[in-house]
Amino acid sequence: MNGKINRLKISGALPGLVLAVAGILLHCVVTASAGDLPKVHILATGGTISGKAPERIMLSGYKSGTFTIEEILETVPEVHKIADITYEQVSNVGSGSIDTDILLTLAKKINTLYAERPDVAGVVVTHGTGTMEETAYFLNLTVISDKPVVCVGAMRPLSAVSGDGPLNLYNAVRVAISPESRGKGALISMNDEISAAREGTKTDTYRVETFNGREFGFLGYADPDRVVYYRKPYRRHTYASEFIVADLETLPTVDIVYGGYQEAGAGSVLGLIEKGVDGIVLASGSRNYTETLELAREKGIVIVYSDRKGQGRVLESDRRKEAGLVTGDNLRPQKARVLLRLALTKTKDPAEIQRMFNDY
Ligand code: ASP
Repeated sequence: MNGKINRLKISGALPGLVLAVAGILLHCVVTASAGDLPKVHILATGGTISGKAPERIMLSGYKSGTFTIEEILETVPEVHKIADITYEQVSNVGSGSIDTDILLTLAKKINTLYAERPDVAGVVVTHGTGTMEETAYFLNLTVISDKPVVCVGAMRPLSAVSGDGPLNLYNAVRVAISPESRGKGALISMNDEISAAREGTKTDTYRVETFNGREFGFLGYADPDRVVYYRKPYRRHTYASEFIVADLETLPTVDIVYGGYQEAGAGSVLGLIEKGVDGIVLASGSRNYTETLELAREKGIVIVYSDRKGQGRVLESDRRKEAGLVTGDNLRPQKARVLLRLALTKTKDPAEIQRMFNDY
């Protein structure tokens, strides 16, 4: 579904020919200024921001991906005063159902839009919060432009009393049109706070204050007076990325093993070897996996060490290098999976993949 909204209206009865002509002239001037607003394209994928519950007071028990982007926009008409909005419904699903097809569709659409429409200032992606950070990081690595890509969602369904979606969307549009948002890679804009795609992570299952950049904090804020930034991401992203997805129809398969708990068994790794995955992200440094990982390496499966703690680097070591194991820097397992999938589109060489984990 594609759409464009022009909400400019001139109202009031203006009697007489002179006033009618004046009205027409005024209409032209107002319409011209609407065209002058920065252009923002919204790609909607679903999530709680489009969720509906049977009653306004129900903040849980809603169905994600019910309202369309057109209906969401109707709850916040103020966006049309700050931006010339176009929109597109790419999917309408909970973020647990976002798949490779949707990821590639988003990246390709944004790359095409930015290549063909230099007049577009920014893109906003509406998304369920559960896996939003993965889509944000994927776009951070695959959109080859310095123009903003802003991911936004909500913790309360659109139907709720005091839902956070409309204001989050309004702020995401403000972030997308802020000249200062350029060159900062994909962004996550939620609860007035702006996180870098690489660092931003969901930390609370329910509260509206859920995303943050862990030890790195926020990049900035969508404050009422202006969008303000205090720092920018250092790692390679977007316009400096080597990952071109234009000709890709699918991505390598990578699964995550949540290890590192007491008496962790290696059966999950054995299962993935049998399934024939291309890569495994192991959220653990446990020695319990040593033998099964050797087996996986013999089958050509690339292993990346991450960690379940959610903060801090996994360090490189000679032992791991010699064993052909890659370390995931400080990427959370779900982000390491995104980078490993893209890395595997280029190489299976652990040393080269380690270079990518050190770069991005
Ligand atoms: N279940 C939702 C999702 O799509 C949660 C949310 O959007 O916040 O991830």
